[in-house]
Amino acid sequence: MMKTIFEAQDFIMNTGVEQKICGPAPRSIYEASVEKLHMLEDRMSFYRDESETSLLNRHAGKEAVKLSKDMMFILEQAQEFAYLSKNTFHILLAPLVQLWRNAGAKNKLPSHDQISDALALCDSENLVLDKTAGTAYLKAGSMIDLGAIGKGFAADVCCDFYRELGASSAFINLGGNVKTLGKRPDGKPWAIGLQHPDKPRGNSYGAILCADQSVVTSGAYERYQVIDGTKYHHIMDGQTGYPSASDLKSVTVISESSIQADALSTAAFVMGLKKGVDLIYNAKCTGAVFFTAANEVYLTKGMKPHFRLMERLKCYEI
Ligand code: AMP
Ligand code: MG
Repeated sequence: MMKTIFEAQDFIMNTGVEQKICGPAPRSIYEASVEKLHMLEDRMSFYRDESETSLLNRHAGKEAVKLSKDMMFILEQAQEFAYLSKNTFHILLAPLVQLWRNAGAKNKLPSHDQISDALALCDSENLVLDKTAGTAYLKAGSMIDLGAIGKGFAADVCCDFYRELGASSAFINLGGNVKTLGKRPDGKPWAIGLQHPDKPRGNSYGAILCADQSVVTSGAYERYQVIDGTKYHHIMDGQTGYPSASDLKSVTVISESSIQADALSTAAFVMGLKKGVDLIYNAKCTGAVFFTAANEVYLTKGMKPHFRLMERLKCYEI
């Protein structure tokens, strides 16, 4: 059968979703994957009353909740990444994330008391999983938020799905969270542009050349709010209760697993260059690219052949 490429853009999971699919009947693969993405959003969303996230949050302090296999898998993975990152990444920071979201909406900084009250509810130990029963229990006052991991999981699910339905080559970009299946239809590797943290959207400082890999970036520039004229970004430091004062502007993680790349890019951003590099080596990801506050670029070992620098920046291997 003739192979054609199908390309489409949608808005799902509160973000732009771009898909390119090559294989037999790519349009039907696309339609099925859109349905899957809506289903995952319904399951994971913090803002939907009927989601499993909301169900678990509502039952905090009351009883354990039976969850779908997908959701249990995400929560187990999240615990693994929390452990690897010494809790720099964890999904129980929702009370703090909410506090800062509300502060942005009211244009008023949270007080120290509000921050320490929220932090007291953000203990990563407050989620208890029973893998045999397929249930999760949250301690009173705690909430989960899959904002730093959910899109990665969804990208993995879509790529598995493309493959199962016969696609030979595909690309999905879920709001900057990219995953590729195979090479491009012309046999070349995919080139994933890396956004320059200080330039308008669409300006890349470099690119990752890859096949069968996920490329995920976390950066202060991605989402932020202005309170009293100062920018406060969306990635939290669970030690201080403030947006992370990272020595990085962005971190890009490359991994076969998008859920891993998503979680670890968030973690490495908070940990900063030195500890972030250790994290990437410990986790045995394919690699990472660090863009520092001093506008220098650091590549983990083995990344050089897969990285193209597109700006005049100092670039080192670390
Ligand atoms: P990302 O864009 O993948 O780095 O994820 C950032 C989102 O995850 C934020 O908008 C919050 O919803 C949530 N979040 C913020 N800080 C953390 C953190 N340290 N660990 C896990 N999730 C976080
Ligand atoms: Mg993330």
